[in-house]
Amino acid sequence: MTTYLVTGGAGFVGSHLIDRLLDEGHSVLCVDNMVTGSRANIAHHLSNPKFEMMRHDVTFPLYVEVDAVFNLACPASPVSYQKDPVQTIKTSVLGAINILGLAKRLKCPVVQASTSEVYGSPERHPQDETYWGNVNPIGPRACYDEGKRAAETLFFDYRRQHNVDAKVVRIFNTYGPRMAVDDGRVVSNFIVQALKGEDITIYGDGTQTRSFCYVSDLVDGLVKTMEISRDFSGPVNIGNPAELSVHDLAEQIIDLTRSKSRLKTMPLPVDDPIKRKPDISIAREHLKWSPEVELEDGLIATVDYFRSLGM
Ligand code: NAD
Ligand code: UDP
Ligand code: UDP
Repeated sequence: MTTYLVTGGAGFVGSHLIDRLLDEGHSVLCVDNMVTGSRANIAHHLSNPKFEMMRHDVTFPLYVEVDAVFNLACPASPVSYQKDPVQTIKTSVLGAINILGLAKRLKCPVVQASTSEVYGSPERHPQDETYWGNVNPIGPRACYDEGKRAAETLFFDYRRQHNVDAKVVRIFNTYGPRMAVDDGRVVSNFIVQALKGEDITIYGDGTQTRSFCYVSDLVDGLVKTMEISRDFSGPVNIGNPAELSVHDLAEQIIDLTRSKSRLKTMPLPVDDPIKRKPDISIAREHLKWSPEVELEDGLIATVDYFRSLGM
């Protein structure tokens, strides 16, 4: 049995990761400042003696005793990370320093939730881990993209300089139950709009692409990264290579929900990446990982979740 620290554990991905770790009989300390997380995501564990919740902001030092760390703390949707950009970059950079300091003191492994946003608006397609990316360092997405890039730098420097077992996972767009209704990401927005019969908001002409991974597949990739030997550092892409346009996603969600919603075009946000698709060769070879959940099945489960909220 291992005691895991999961920062950002009350968020969408973190809460599913905690479910999995507790299911396997481990203990979990969830650290979250609740800026985008929700008590409802972890409420079902509050009476479990192997689960502990601590309200704390990772930009401040954290002294706790654990065996391994998943560092997920950071708002993830463009709407939420642009609300307080200075806090967003502090969360990635100061958060990484504190969590790496902790892992160094405890001599324990630490996995960083990085992102496909480190590739920016990519000029190489699909994106493999050797690509250095195309990021605007001063635009509205930079607080997130550059924060996550600096965190990767810190993870690799703590590995080289302090011999910390630090690993980096680059997560591509992930969706599923417990996405916040109002967090502004495309899957949750479209499902909520379709269920309410509101217009579906397509930003730009809808030809931009994304590749969507179901949350259980991502959790599996995170756990496999933690379990592999300390020689493996990543960065490793975790995502589903099934690419589709935002327009096609909207049509699929309208079909699945049998909605009468219509498509409405809105301006494309600044620096919105035109295309995105992971090359997952490293994950396949080293982690023996590949996604298992088809988009349609994942969307059905996600629609059921939003329906269960009374929509
Ligand atoms: P989320 O917003 O649901 O969860 C993030 C959690 O971190 C929230 O519970 C939030 O309250 C907490 N948090 C934010 N700032 C904090 C701070 N300073 N101190 C402590 N807690 C803090 O987002 P998510 O989708 O669950 O994303 C989890 C992680 O995965 C993030 O690091 C994100 O960047 C990364 N990621 C997610 C995706 C995706 O598609 N879901 C894609 C790429 C990367
Ligand atoms: N830190 C922490 N928890 C720990 C150990 C360290 O939050 O258990 C913080 C500590 O406050 C420091 C940062 O992590 O600011 C980096 O730690 P490191 O040991 O690398 O740096 P130093 O203490 O030498 O500045
Ligand atoms: N998008 C959209 N309508 C929405 C929300 C998002 O057309 O209501 C688009 C957005 O412009 C982007 C894609 O969907 O091209 C994915 O956006 P999201 O915010 O989910 O994640 P990103 O990959 O941009 O971080």
